[in-house]
Amino acid sequence: MINLFINISYLTANTLMILAIKMLSTPKTARLGNLIGIAGMFWAIAAALISLHLSDYITPIIVIFLGGIFGIYIALKVKITALPQMIAILNGLGGLAAVFISLSEVISQSKNDISNITSLIIGGITFSGSILAFAKLNFPRWSKSVRFPGQYIINLILSLSVLGFALGYVLRNHPEAFYFLAFMNLLLGFMLILPVGGADIPVVIAFLNACSGWAGVSVGLSLQSPVLIVIGTIVGTGGTFLARTMTKALNRSLLNILIGGGNSPTTEIDNSPKIANIGSPADAAFIMQNAAKIIIVPGFGMAAAHAQHALKNMADILRNKYQAEVKFAIHPVAGRMPGHMNVLLAEANVDYADVFELNDINNEFQETDVAYVIGANDITNPQAKTNPNSPIYGMPILEVEKAKTVFFVKRSLGNGYSNVENPLFFAPNTYMLYGDAAHITEEIVKYLEA
Ligand code: NAP
Repeated sequence: MINLFINISYLTANTLMILAIKMLSTPKTARLGNLIGIAGMFWAIAAALISLHLSDYITPIIVIFLGGIFGIYIALKVKITALPQMIAILNGLGGLAAVFISLSEVISQSKNDISNITSLIIGGITFSGSILAFAKLNFPRWSKSVRFPGQYIINLILSLSVLGFALGYVLRNHPEAFYFLAFMNLLLGFMLILPVGGADIPVVIAFLNACSGWAGVSVGLSLQSPVLIVIGTIVGTGGTFLARTMTKALNRSLLNILIGGGNSPTTEIDNSPKIANIGSPADAAFIMQNAAKIIIVPGFGMAAAHAQHALKNMADILRNKYQAEVKFAIHPVAGRMPGHMNVLLAEANVDYADVFELNDINNEFQETDVAYVIGANDITNPQAKTNPNSPIYGMPILEVEKAKTVFFVKRSLGNGYSNVENPLFFAPNTYMLYGDAAHITEEIVKYLEA
């Protein structure tokens, strides 16, 4: 009877998780999807606890409770711009959990099956790789690609040793081989991420997210836990698709990113005299209230400034009071994580029907009166099309320069994430609106309302 209950609970947990992922794919149902995911995880934990037939349930419940409180605290505290760092840490913890389970299986049962070794290998690489990815994202001075002569030979030797120790342990069952394997493996994870440059780290985080899922699958196979296998597969495939979407959007391959194959961020300064037109919120309001079509292009600075509510207000006024057609254009890598802009616009209740992906809107800029580029930079930079030495070369961009007038809302002429100068700032049809994205947009709203 109890086994039937456990199996039904696992089935329920799996169904809820799959439903949650499906609902998370659109902003309209994402909140409910999140709640369903929480319910699924609750069922999975409850069923796993019951299936263990423990004599003491108090200790695991206290541990889960403390972990839950810590998780809620972090989720409430983390800034939306620091979400990739948080995901890096969570991936790392997933990897570390796989390593601990694998170690405990070896210590308690000398379990040397392939799935236990696989969970150690994938979990260890995920753990050390994620810690380095976190450090590269969080501390700008560590973010550079680190490359040195012989690096790939060292990585090859490390990979072969990991394989050798793994085979040694599976075939001969020497615990020493296992501990060496664990150590070499952590080193390998670190070495693999070392050459990845800062701008590519979010892609690597998606890749490590997939790895944490596959580590979960290995643990599930080793412990014969169907729920871990199913949820691990969901995370693994989700992360793999995410990494694929991001590499496609950056026009790069995952291998190219992992070997640090991008061009280095340019620090070359073009000293030729350049003058940017400086506009004011009053100018922007005047031009926009006379525009028939306006496309808003949000980027990382919109997120940093929490400007989405002011932006929604501005779009509503332009539509309702001035009968302008207003659309939002989203680049697949705008901000610092996929879907970053969609989530923020949805939070401000921007109608999803007004939000367009790059491929669906790019050919509309030439018939647009105003492109309002708010806190975005790299995703509009024409160097991606014209300069083969640029780190962003090959990335598709939003072609805002084709609009009659372009407003860039940012605090300075400073570069974006890729540290590449944007020649559009000096184009004759561009006007720079210097200041915080939320403040400038609120100022424009005041003029539009007057
Ligand atoms: P971006 O190129 O990093 O530019 C953001 C701009 O926002 C900066 O130039 C900054 O200029 C401005 N800014 C910052 N805070 C601001 C504030 N409070 N108010 C107004 N402006 C502010 O961002 P993006 O155009 O969104 O491009 C995203 C970049 O991240 C791309 O290079 C992409 O490849 C990279 N990336 C993204 C992902 C992803 O999944 N989304 C993944 C990998 C890499 P000032 O300092 O002058 O204000």
